[in-house]
Amino acid sequence: MFLVGLSGGIASGKSTVVSILRELGCAVIDADVIAREVVQRGTPAYNQIISHFGEDVVLESGELDRGKLGSIIFSSPEKRALLNSITHPPIHRAMLKQTLWHFLLGYRYVILDIPLLFETRTLMRYMKLTVLVYCDPQTQEERLIRRSGLSREEVRKRLAAQLPITSKVPLADHVIDNSGDRDSTRRQVLQLHASLESSRGYLPTRIAAVATAAGIMALMWNLARRLWQ
Ligand code: ADP
Repeated sequence: MFLVGLSGGIASGKSTVVSILRELGCAVIDADVIAREVVQRGTPAYNQIISHFGEDVVLESGELDRGKLGSIIFSSPEKRALLNSITHPPIHRAMLKQTLWHFLLGYRYVILDIPLLFETRTLMRYMKLTVLVYCDPQTQEERLIRRSGLSREEVRKRLAAQLPITSKVPLADHVIDNSGDRDSTRRQVLQLHASLESSRGYLPTRIAAVATAAGIMALMWNLARRLWQ
């Protein structure tokens, strides 16, 4: 099995591409969903966040106030680092668990949908291939205004807080350009899918897994024979 890291920028079309890949039967692990699950009420990360950030970041319902946490870490790099040090280990563990599960199910590759893949870079080294869903900055701004209903000024502020999408292009192995219409994007996703399906990149891990399983069985067989004699 091999891993494919998929990322983009806000409103660049990542969800659009992921839904086509899922339609084609690909296994996609969504880091955003996992990030929400690991801080649900009562989890160790939830308790740690409250002990460091105080009860102020909790809503009346008991859930974390993500908006408040977001604005705290937006203005303080130290607090952002602290929050990341609490949430990243359980997120990575959950992603690993889901990946192993897909491996056992026989998937040749798994696509990891990671919003900050190119920003944090820590997970990039585990990917055989990285894919960027690109959209030219002007179209990105227009689509974000249309989707969010925010003012142009507000949208520009949000876009400025992220790594510009153009600077992610040289970091990616493969780029899907979603600046055009949906049909053009679909065609590019179909091409990516075809190349993933025909890749032999899954063979090394599969051979290693079969060799390990064979080794364990041989060991057990020898042990059983000795006990029998
Ligand atoms: P992301 O997941 O990267 O934030 P989305 O896939 O949600 O981006 O797309 C952002 C917005 O742009 C959505 O409202 C979506 O419907 C729209 N959109 C995405 N791709 C296209 C396209 N090729 N043409 C027109 N609108 C698009």
